[in-house]
Amino acid sequence: MVEIKCYCCNRDSEQVELRPYGPNASLICFECAMSTPEKEAETERNYALQLEAALAKSNIIMLSEAGPVPVINKDDLN
Ligand SMILES: [Zn+2]
Repeated sequence: MVEIKCYCCNRDSEQVELRPYGPNASLICFECAMSTPEKEAETERNYALQLEAALAKSNIIMLSEAGPVPVINKDDLN
């Protein structure tokens, strides 16, 4: 079973809003993500990587709870 918890403070998604910007896309809450300059830098790095991956798929990006998601026009799919 997948744990829907902040990897850092262990609070779950009922208590805090979680985003997949921890190490290896693990879930982290905003508070923890911004708690130290190191975590903040890591969060920004992970976000940028996910955004880059999404942009490789489409030039239209939707921000979701799962991070940046490419919006793919079904007409573009072969
Ligand atoms: Zn946390």
